[in-house]
Order: sequence, then structure tokens, then C-alpha cells
Amino acid sequence: MPECKELKQKLLKISREITKDCPFCTLVSEDIENRTPIYCSRFSGERSPIPVDLDTCLSCGEFKRHG
Ligand code: SF4
Repeated sequence: MPECKELKQKLLKISREITKDCPFCTLVSEDIENRTPIYCSRFSGERSPIPVDLDTCLSCGEFKRHG
């Protein structure tokens, strides 16, 4: 479904935008099917970032401190 693909692409774009200033975000996946595309090192350390979703970042809010 094209709308669904477009929506997933927008979610990834928002994820990238929200986490771009967060020092714990090490990577945002390019894969629109990835449900946890944001790699966060806040609790695991930089060597083994944990994949999280956008909801987790919004709840965490760390990105707001660095924006
Ligand atoms: S979960 Fe929190 S610390 Fe981790 S990348 Fe998202 S905003 Fe940053």
C-alpha cells in the first residue's frame, strides 16, 4: 500500500529529526520496515546501542535537552 510506505518513510524522517541532537543516538536505520530503527546508547554504552522506537524517544525526552 503506497500510503503505508509513505507513512513509514515519514516516521523515519521524524525519528531522524528528533534524535539528531541527542548524544546517545548512534544511528537511525534506513529500513522502513524496522520497528525499532533508533540505536540508543544511553543505558547500554556506545559499543552496544539498543534499538528503540520513536515512542521510546518521546517518552525519554533526552533529545529536548540538547536541541
Ligand atoms: S531513547 Fe532517549 S537517549 Fe535514547 S536516543 Fe532516544 S531520546 Fe536519545
